[in-house]
Amino acid sequence: MFFRKKKNVSEEVNNETVKEAVKENNKMNVLVINCGSSSLKYQLIDKDTEQVLAKGLCERIGIEGSCLTHKVPGKEDYVDQSFMEDHKVAVQKVLDALVDADHGVIASVNEINAVGHRVLHGSVFFTDSVVINDEVKKVIRDCFDLGPLHNPANLIGIEACEALMGDTPQVAVFDTAFHQTMPEKAYMYAIPREYYDKYHIRKYGFHGTSHSFVSKRTIEVAGLDKDNSKVIVCHLGNGSSISAVQNGKCVDTSMGLTPLEGLIMGTRSGDVDAAVVQYIANKENKTVDEVLNILNKKSGVLALSQLSSDFRDLDNAADEGNELARLALDAFIYRVVKYVGSYVAAMNGVDCITFTAGIGENNSRMRKAIMSSFEYLGIKIDDEANAKRGEELIISTADSKVKVCVIPTNEELAICRETVALVNA
Ligand code: ADP
Repeated sequence: MFFRKKKNVSEEVNNETVKEAVKENNKMNVLVINCGSSSLKYQLIDKDTEQVLAKGLCERIGIEGSCLTHKVPGKEDYVDQSFMEDHKVAVQKVLDALVDADHGVIASVNEINAVGHRVLHGSVFFTDSVVINDEVKKVIRDCFDLGPLHNPANLIGIEACEALMGDTPQVAVFDTAFHQTMPEKAYMYAIPREYYDKYHIRKYGFHGTSHSFVSKRTIEVAGLDKDNSKVIVCHLGNGSSISAVQNGKCVDTSMGLTPLEGLIMGTRSGDVDAAVVQYIANKENKTVDEVLNILNKKSGVLALSQLSSDFRDLDNAADEGNELARLALDAFIYRVVKYVGSYVAAMNGVDCITFTAGIGENNSRMRKAIMSSFEYLGIKIDDEANAKRGEELIISTADSKVKVCVIPTNEELAICRETVALVNA
């Protein structure tokens, strides 16, 4: 029954050696790394200016056609298409690119003072980011079952950095951590308790770094009192999720044990009756794994529209009269409206609703369509403000009873800040 008592490994980490490492060095560059199963995204960020010095992407790691694309502001992209057999080779290529005489931005790897890793699943163990040590790595490994595609890749990235960067402090920033403040009534599934006790099956939620970053900025931009605030964040991208944030803490979120639950997404179904899995498996002679692959990769607006998972394509097609594209958009909007409405009810009110991510930041028609279902809350959208792009905005009118904002998300910057805070603590 150890799982009923929450244990935060971050409290147990002794990071004295880490503090020593950066104490005398006022300047600090943070390498932010996001490892997928065959990819590695990175940014090198100056912690004082918060400028991105360089960023890039390693694709097709371990697969034919490997490619590193390295971008430095004001310079031409550097592309290296030599084979990367594993993530260690990819990290080495990233470090080489960063110190290269032509396209590099630092003189030596020693100018990277800390590494911040995005880690998908921290289960119930991590309520916050944490300096990585052997115990933390063990817990990330223990969570492989919960994040089978991402956690192994995240750990490989961490170990590759350890092997190549010696004692440079490394921090893990978990996609699940921000949602760990949810109350039990929000995160428990109504299934036999033994599955929670034995396998930790419950709602976890994802996109936590984005929900945390955006909800904090919302409180500042909307001028709310953090300790008396009710915010709903709509992270609408290819993957989409909504969170309810009361007094700065997450109280509910739409994704679940995995990112499949909740909203209709680009290729994910979101909520369906679980019996659908059995029904398709039986009728089509498929395994449960195969059906889940369909629900994750071949469903969502892609399946409803039979056209595309990209909302720009769907908007264009719907404008030209494509009825299935219209249906996909309407179903997406309807699900978002239902979640927002349920979170207004869960918090007994709302002060601000914020849009972020690819669709949330760029699709003004979508924002307007979603908000038109909340006229009963006294929400009014300022069409001129709503038409702007690329900046933090309040898009509701001055007399709107609830504020509506657009806050561009920046998960890399959030990971950089978390890393700096822990390393300098
Ligand atoms: P991911 O979950 O992969 O990070 P994004 O947050 O990048 O996804 O969101 C991708 C979605 O955002 C796509 O459906 C795309 O249509 C939409 N989107 C991205 N940029 C724009 C844009 N400039 N204008 C309209 N839609 C956009």
